[in-house]
Amino acid sequence: MKKMLAVSFVSSFIIWVFALNIVTTINPYYLIVKQIVGEKATVSVLIKPGSDPHTFNPTISDVKALSNADLIVANGLGLDNAYLKNYKKVLLVGEKIPSKYLVELEEEHEHEEGTYNPHVWLSIDFLTDYIIPAIRDELVRMDKQNATFYEKNAKMVINSLKEVSKKFDSLLKDKKGAVVILDHPSYVYLFKKYGIQVLALEEGHGKEPSARHLKNIIEHAKRSNLIGVFVGPQFKAESIKVVSNELKKQYKILDPLGSKAKTITELFENAYNSIREAVYGK
Ligand SMILES: [Zn+2]
Repeated sequence: MKKMLAVSFVSSFIIWVFALNIVTTINPYYLIVKQIVGEKATVSVLIKPGSDPHTFNPTISDVKALSNADLIVANGLGLDNAYLKNYKKVLLVGEKIPSKYLVELEEEHEHEEGTYNPHVWLSIDFLTDYIIPAIRDELVRMDKQNATFYEKNAKMVINSLKEVSKKFDSLLKDKKGAVVILDHPSYVYLFKKYGIQVLALEEGHGKEPSARHLKNIIEHAKRSNLIGVFVGPQFKAESIKVVSNELKKQYKILDPLGSKAKTITELFENAYNSIREAVYGK
């Protein structure tokens, strides 16, 4: 339901300001929406940093928040759409990306409903070309009064992302054919842009890699130009330590949800710093 804020000016005037109430599923979309709407709308995030979006199930209070939302901004592609089926105002940003750009999941990595790797927010190009424009257009459609404000802010977010994208270009443009090891197949789209292959430890969600799978990854990495070993901030350390020691490559933190970031650009700045350290370090 729309929250009504009564702003009274002179005694005879009461102006009703309708502020949209927006719920986002994961933190990256929270950061983006917040940057676009500023104080003109209420924005909240359903899946708190530290929770796993792949295994999330809404609580009773989450259901209440979802029911009260004017707009739900979600990823789709099997990540968060299953429990959003019964809500009307859901923007599934992942579905705005032409499927020819999406990476099909190997069978063992298939999420509950998806066919494609769902981590589309980790491609700067998807964000600037499809995701942010889709969010902006929906906000403009729902709240025309603030259209110019939303358009201006969306443009600022896009421009700052394009700046950080240039840094990735100069860091990774000559790394075609290289490999990286990740605990979870999250940053696949970012690396794919530069022809870098992601070797994911995880075989399905929350499943510990088998000894055989670890051995295959280590052997693959030894034959290749390995530029980094990365884990999310809530990683289970054991298998990554084995890989890291075996390959004599210190692992770095690569956070797919930007738990500590204040803007979406900061999420990528942090990622850039980790990847840079890996590329130039041991
Ligand atoms: Zn994931």
